[in-house]
Amino acid sequence: MTTRFDGSRDVRRATARLARRLPEPLEDLAWISYNYLWSWTPRGEDLFRLIDDHRFTMAGENPVRFLSNLPERDLLRASTSPEILEVLAGVARTMEAELARPTTAVLDGGPVAFFCAEFGVHQSLPVYSGGLGVLAGDYLKETSDQALDVVGMGLLYRRGYVHQRMDLTGWQHEYWLEANTGQLPAARVRGANGLPIKVRVPIWDGDLVAHVWRVNVGRTPLYLLDAELPENSPLERWVTARLYEGSHDVRLAQYALLGIGGVRALDAMGITPGLVHLNEGHPALASLEIASRLPREDGTRDERLDAVRERFAFTTHTPVPAGNETYTPDEFFSVLGHTIDSMGLSREQVSAVSRIDPTSLDEPLGFSPLAIRSSRSTNGVSARHGEVARDMWQPLFPGTSAADVPITSVTNGVHLPTWMSPTMRGLLDGFLGPDWERHANDPAMWAHVDEIADVDLWAARTAMRQRLIDMVRSRTVVDRLARGEDVDFAASAESAFDPAYLTIGFARRLATYKRLDLLFHDTERLATIIDHEQGAQFVIAGKAHPNDDGAKTVARNVFTLNRSLDLPNTVVFLEDYDMTVAPTLVAGCDVWLNLPRPPMEASGTSGMKAAMNGCLNLSVLDGWWSEGYNGQNGWAIDGTTLEDPAAQDERDATALYDLLEHEVRPTFFARDANGIPVAWIAMIRASLRSLAPTYSTARMLADYRQRIYRPTR
Ligand SMILES: *Cc1c(COP(=O)(O)O)cnc(C)c1O
Repeated sequence: MTTRFDGSRDVRRATARLARRLPEPLEDLAWISYNYLWSWTPRGEDLFRLIDDHRFTMAGENPVRFLSNLPERDLLRASTSPEILEVLAGVARTMEAELARPTTAVLDGGPVAFFCAEFGVHQSLPVYSGGLGVLAGDYLKETSDQALDVVGMGLLYRRGYVHQRMDLTGWQHEYWLEANTGQLPAARVRGANGLPIKVRVPIWDGDLVAHVWRVNVGRTPLYLLDAELPENSPLERWVTARLYEGSHDVRLAQYALLGIGGVRALDAMGITPGLVHLNEGHPALASLEIASRLPREDGTRDERLDAVRERFAFTTHTPVPAGNETYTPDEFFSVLGHTIDSMGLSREQVSAVSRIDPTSLDEPLGFSPLAIRSSRSTNGVSARHGEVARDMWQPLFPGTSAADVPITSVTNGVHLPTWMSPTMRGLLDGFLGPDWERHANDPAMWAHVDEIADVDLWAARTAMRQRLIDMVRSRTVVDRLARGEDVDFAASAESAFDPAYLTIGFARRLATYKRLDLLFHDTERLATIIDHEQGAQFVIAGKAHPNDDGAKTVARNVFTLNRSLDLPNTVVFLEDYDMTVAPTLVAGCDVWLNLPRPPMEASGTSGMKAAMNGCLNLSVLDGWWSEGYNGQNGWAIDGTTLEDPAAQDERDATALYDLLEHEVRPTFFARDANGIPVAWIAMIRASLRSLAPTYSTARMLADYRQRIYRPTR
């Protein structure tokens, strides 16, 4: 094998540097810290929390930063603690065994290169905004668990996604924090000459230069391109400053760096992908780069643009035309003209493949048409989304009826070891047999949840709810103080929530189609549901995109209505929703709400995370729930659409209140002599049995391997 400069050596070098700071008995902590596998290895997080819980939290749960800044006396003390050394030895053994397994090739031609604009691997690597990124992170973790030959490609946004602060009126404000790359669990990839690899992409009138960072996600490397270099102009450096930047021009430059620069980066590292998986349209320009490397045939049309199709697969995540960003030819070529020219491709043909109708010269250019035309396979992310996508993209296939449009679907899943709380995992360990996570998609195994005693399942649920309540209390006090609320009011949150109440969660991006406001459609009815001796409480969280004033207005209305209901300690808004709070939320709620305006929820994954933890779903029959719901494993709101959106909201809000009042609450509070909600627990079992084996990344990746990646002959 030829030597690859794939960054593994550079990560080892960074590890050795960190190890030098550690007392000898703790040296293994260095390599553990440089591989996110610790975050889904049992006791991995405990290991750092045992050393210093508070400092680990303050370090943003980033172990490299934590250990780099931990005072020497604390390191010495930890190095003599038998408990810490024992946990360390256990975690190191598990991780070593995992990393030593042989790799399985997915395809003969080389690894699958998974390109995505965002990756949610862990809260300490802030290069994600929401569902798309978390899915991409979960996917990488699963490829590691299955020991598959896959690499990830993305961008290292120095300032990540927005942080959220609400003011006293409930209006969202944003701020950004700059990551200290020197303390990320990542290393710059160096080439044969010992210097960092440089990737160049002509953007605007200059030559954008980027370095490549490697992050170990278990066995799977994630590469991130970084333009924060002295040779770039301030504008060029801004290309990897923020995720989902407001300006069209900057976003185009980002996607060019990701798509074109990503292929060049792989090449510089000696990695030839067998297949490029475009996760959402953003990286679609990768197809132009690969086309430009093929030998040119003579002819009027550039055949190379067709010839790349065997090398690409495309997953679309957007069910509405407006969600598929487009650019005028002027915009497109003022940013990318030089690149396209330097690749020897014709602007006319690039425009033609990026339009729905190749002959319509006024039509703007989009990455979804380009990705669909460049890929041998296109898929949506739930069965219903597959249908919607076939309809939506039918114009790309003139003469084909919508039903026959070659777009299929692979329903999303979630990475179970990441999203199942340690409490639930501990409970299941006793019933599902050894190594059960390796058979997570086997329904027969999940049948064993019937053997768990009601009291044990209920005790686990109660513990998870209590943990959520503790988090709600401490974060709400701080949120209120930071917002400038009265001190007494802020402090009153210390007794917010009642551990005996039905706890209902709604947390996701605050896009208007998610219809958070449906919950407040009839505040009087809501108040009677909440304010009852068998009461309910709501925890709400989510960020609006900085440019989405509509979504910010919804959030503000929720604030105002909540204040007028005078129930501020039973309906709580947690600020700055991200992967730090999400696991506690999905595990601690009893009911997880999802109220999208159908058919706009392509999949939705937070409900899957909830289900893994024994939290029940109440959702509109859209996205994954229209196939996940079976009548016994949660509750459903009609997913059909009405012409008049106001009438639809009215219908759906009434259905929501009816369910909460007449089904959800009575079932939750129907207790036997020991105080156990027997019917509720039966529903939890039905939910685990039916949903856990299917809506995991184990099943999702098996689908991708069999149906999407399979070599075509
Ligand atoms: C899972 C997850 C999401 C996606 O939630 P949806 O149900 O798809 O809306 C968004 N943000 C975070 C932090 C998540 O963990």
